[in-house]
Amino acid sequence: MTVIPADIGHASEPPHQGDGGGRPGPKLFTLDQARQELAQRECAEFGHDVTVMLDGWGQPSRLVCDRPCGHPGWVVLDASAPDLHLELLRAAMLDLWADLAVAYLASETRPRESSVACHGLMTRIQDVARHIGPVEPEKVPPLVVTTGLYELVHAAAGCEVQVPPQVMEAAWSALEQSTGGKAARA
Ligand SMILES: [Zn+2]
Repeated sequence: MTVIPADIGHASEPPHQGDGGGRPGPKLFTLDQARQELAQRECAEFGHDVTVMLDGWGQPSRLVCDRPCGHPGWVVLDASAPDLHLELLRAAMLDLWADLAVAYLASETRPRESSVACHGLMTRIQDVARHIGPVEPEKVPPLVVTTGLYELVHAAAGCEVQVPPQVMEAAWSALEQSTGGKAARA
């Protein structure tokens, strides 16, 4: 761990880096803490330095600050949606779908979706889907469309969904583009 003296960072109140023994001495904080402190000051003075994150389909999904200020970022909601409450639930569900795609890729079980992480996420998605219905296949990560998880999870929640052929084709294209053509079609 890298530590630098607090006075180098000109921080008025550096976080305590206690050694537990109550020994008096210069307050220290890590390089990461110094970076965060500086980023927080910059963001407070100039506003966050925001980047628009795109989902797997190239649509805006999230705004994040480029500086390490610790802000969790913002979720992009469709302003034309008549019910923003519903949109928030949908945004939460889309986060779960995104997490599921990550868990699926990280899974070492076969089939991949049988891992504990995937199973937990699928159960949570089904819970939400029972309340607000299905989301469009164009909104979830292309991977969960091409793997059939999109239909599998919705069916288990009692939601009838169908992936139109052109959407399936677009999902494969998006996946192949993001993996440099390495996505293997079943
Ligand atoms: Zn920021």
